[in-house]
Amino acid sequence: MAAKIIDGKAISAQIRAELAEEVKKLQQETSVTPGLAVVLVGDNPASKVYVGQKEKACEELGLVSKKYVLPGDASEKELLDLVEQLNNDPEIDGILVQLPLPKQIDENKVIAAIHPDKDVDGFHPVNVGRLVIGTEGFKPCTPYGVIHLLKRSDVQLTGAEAVVVGRSNIVGKPVALMLLQENATITVCHSKTKDLGEVCRRADVLVVATGRPKTVTADMVKDGVVVIDVGVNRLENGKLVGDVDFDAVSQKASAITPVPGGVGPMTIAMLMYNTVNSAKRRAGVPVMA
Ligand code: NDP
Repeated sequence: MAAKIIDGKAISAQIRAELAEEVKKLQQETSVTPGLAVVLVGDNPASKVYVGQKEKACEELGLVSKKYVLPGDASEKELLDLVEQLNNDPEIDGILVQLPLPKQIDENKVIAAIHPDKDVDGFHPVNVGRLVIGTEGFKPCTPYGVIHLLKRSDVQLTGAEAVVVGRSNIVGKPVALMLLQENATITVCHSKTKDLGEVCRRADVLVVATGRPKTVTADMVKDGVVVIDVGVNRLENGKLVGDVDFDAVSQKASAITPVPGGVGPMTIAMLMYNTVNSAKRRAGVPVMA
């Protein structure tokens, strides 16, 4: 039986529409408008595209977006000074420094310099710690998008066997912690896992984030599994594919995300979600769960 497609484009559009309403309500009730600062260093073409998409999303939702562009040879101190200025700007609720940074700048130092309560990317060690202990904080956008996709598709997470393939700090580890928070039983796999197929076949929910096409094939999943494919890989023929053998796995799965159009569109929606929540905290009103 062919799987139900988990449509990230439609779900992210729904989230953005809800956020636009939240922004209107916040402005009417408290006069606070959420503000996002986006910092770009250098002229990496992919980074420019991402920054443009984030500005456009802010505009659509009624958020204030401020863009700061530093030259590619900017010093670490220049960037840290700008981050400090934004930390102290009362109209800025979220600071996003577009990664990767030029090699003269230490990314970890910059992430640590962002005030944890404006770290809408969820990469600051304080927010990572909050995620580990399960207290309120910013959750990183891509894995948070995975959780929203699952919840809005009514996937049962409590008690589910969840297997995550990949253990990066930006996807694998945080998504595993979020699934644990949702009461799933989690297993995290990586390149040294002995028998990946054997572990994946246990999964009710399988999240794959390796950056390698066909990491998961049909023989590695059980019937009825829900598959979230985070991977984005460009094949030699120009085609964009995920990390899962979509055509074959979708014949066994009960639900699956496509690539493109699955997890991808969720990332910016969750960045907006985090920024609106940050503004709600500033305004002293309850945040969205
Ligand atoms: P990383 O390269 O940082 O991590 C990949 C992980 O996969 C590592 O933990 C690695 O193991 C593991 N791995 C690699 N090969 C295998 C294998 N054959 N079997 C089991 N595990 C394996 O990647 P990211 O987490 O940053 O990204 C993963 C994918 O998600 C990429 O395709 C990326 O483009 C995509 N992505 C998409 C986003 C979006 O849609 N918005 C955002 C972020 C990422 P080990 O640790 O042992 O090396």
